[in-house]
Amino acid sequence: MTREEEIANRLLDVEERIAGAAHRAGRKREEIELIVVTKNFPQTDAQILYRLGIRAFGENRDQEGALKSEQLPGDIAWHFQGQIQGRKIKSIASWADSVHSLDSLDHARKFASVGESRVQNFFIQVNLEPERADRGGVRAEDLESLVEAVKMEAEIFPIGLMTVAPNGLEPERAFAQMSAIHKRVLNSFPTMTALSMGMSGDFEAAIAAGATHLRIGSSILGSRELPA
Ligand SMILES: *Cc1c(COP(=O)(O)O)cnc(C)c1O
Repeated sequence: MTREEEIANRLLDVEERIAGAAHRAGRKREEIELIVVTKNFPQTDAQILYRLGIRAFGENRDQEGALKSEQLPGDIAWHFQGQIQGRKIKSIASWADSVHSLDSLDHARKFASVGESRVQNFFIQVNLEPERADRGGVRAEDLESLVEAVKMEAEIFPIGLMTVAPNGLEPERAFAQMSAIHKRVLNSFPTMTALSMGMSGDFEAAIAAGATHLRIGSSILGSRELPA
């Protein structure tokens, strides 16, 4: 089997599982966007995915995303989902169409001050395990004040929320928490309809809980040789 056949088969399998989970949840497949996470996979894999029709790619690192986006066709939406470093913001804004991991006013201000930013969509990342501040993301209780400040002071209007299910928590429980947080935030900010959650190990649970953006890598591309 060629690498292209392998990826095509895995992609088909993931697509079927997404459709099945959407159906079981009484949701439309079109409400759910699949972002294929190409981090740590070679350019050639991204090209295969492009030939297979994928137009949304996720990356965690600025340098890797910058390089891949330069070498692939221009009609791809690039999603940055890694932890943001202030000094990388100008560069991230030069290639990313969406940023899923915004979690501070300081970073929002820096994105806002980039002259020619490509970023169209921001998600606010929520940390569901506040005892682990190193994970990135804002605590649920600080969400509304952060969104308010980001809107007022950086004039950035986030389209929704993002999270990564904590390791120690069942995905169903984590996503139920997130769904409740999302509903609460929608009361104050009704345009923040997007919900980016669900990875290879838990995307069906995420769909059941209302995810609109899935970030899936290894189910489609296989296991990574390098750590994330
Ligand atoms: C790596 C990563 C993913 C994709 O993970 P897989 O388990 O390979 O599907 C999604 N979101 C974030 C934030 C990641 O770091």
